[in-house]
Amino acid sequence: KKKIAVMTSGGDSPGMNAVVRAVVRMAIHVGCDPYCVYEGYEGLVQGGNFIRKMEWNDVRGYLSEGGTLIGTARCMAFYERPGRLTAAKNMILNGIDALIICGGDGSLTGADKFRAEWPSLLEELVSTGQLDAKQIEPYRHLNIVGLVGSIDNDLSGTDATIGAYSALARICEMVDYIEATASSHSRAFVIEVMGRHCGWLALMAGVATGADFIFIPEKPREDNWKEEMCQIIQKHRDWGKRKTIVIIAEGALDRHGSKITPDMVKDLLADKQGLALDTRITTLGHVQRGGTAVAYDRMLATLQGVEAVKAVLEATPETETCFIAITENQIVRKPLMSAVRETKQVAKAIEAQDFDQAMSLRDTEFSD
Ligand code: ADP
Repeated sequence: KKKIAVMTSGGDSPGMNAVVRAVVRMAIHVGCDPYCVYEGYEGLVQGGNFIRKMEWNDVRGYLSEGGTLIGTARCMAFYERPGRLTAAKNMILNGIDALIICGGDGSLTGADKFRAEWPSLLEELVSTGQLDAKQIEPYRHLNIVGLVGSIDNDLSGTDATIGAYSALARICEMVDYIEATASSHSRAFVIEVMGRHCGWLALMAGVATGADFIFIPEKPREDNWKEEMCQIIQKHRDWGKRKTIVIIAEGALDRHGSKITPDMVKDLLADKQGLALDTRITTLGHVQRGGTAVAYDRMLATLQGVEAVKAVLEATPETETCFIAITENQIVRKPLMSAVRETKQVAKAIEAQDFDQAMSLRDTEFSD
């Protein structure tokens, strides 16, 4: 019986449990044995009880649980070849040569490296006497499939990452709560949201809550942003609005690549010579990652988990490592490394303040 392992790695995101459930049950459905690797790559390096066979009932209730029940970790050892060598050995000792990984671009980069190195890792395991040639024979090829779990929606080549819509829903809910008090006291709130180099959460939350002004990394504000923001907010106040909401992505920049911070925005809104608004800052922080997945993420994780098992079974030594994307509502397989490369290029372009390049690399929903 073929053994298929699933793991969650890197930052957790809502929907990861639904991935694990889908992979485990689909694997059983097609006659394979599913395994879970606990604690991401750390579990692969540690082996032993970190790699466990799963039964149908082991994942009961997983759809409605937040975070990842099989744990995730950042694993320094896996960055180095000796760590990956031990990981390969542990996989073979467990009879596993198919791995489905749900994580961000870091985790998927590690996965690709692992697959590329696999033949030479096996050779080293034999040449150093850790395994004998007969033991490795059935496991000559490692099949890896990636699933993108991230609240940031920052991976190129897919319209949505698993967890992004849950984080967006949570942000909107929090902004609604804040709006009640903002409106009651006629206050202004500067709300910082997550997203690293990606403004998707801030932009979509701004649209969904009718925020007065937003800041995202991909489209930095012009030099006159201070005047522009104050004018717009004053206009809204003149129209009778009693609350002011400014949403700022954690990676927000100005035209010159300098960070725009919530404090800068607050000082401006509170300036006695200007708008003189009673202004508070709220950093939403980890509540954005917490809680249960929204229906969309459960559906996405389930459909993609099923597709990942199919992809693993259909892969040949010649197939390029793929990840499962959603593009225009279709669940599709795409080459893993070009998506990761493009994602890194966007981050680099933003760091280099080449915003036109960053925008053109972003998916179409970001193009204007
Ligand atoms: P994310 O997957 O959310 O982007 P990280 O970048 O922290 O999170 O990656 C998670 C883990 O994946 C790391 O702790 C490490 O074990 C592994 N990893 C990441 N990048 C690489 C790499 N270039 N080579 C090998 N392993 C990597």
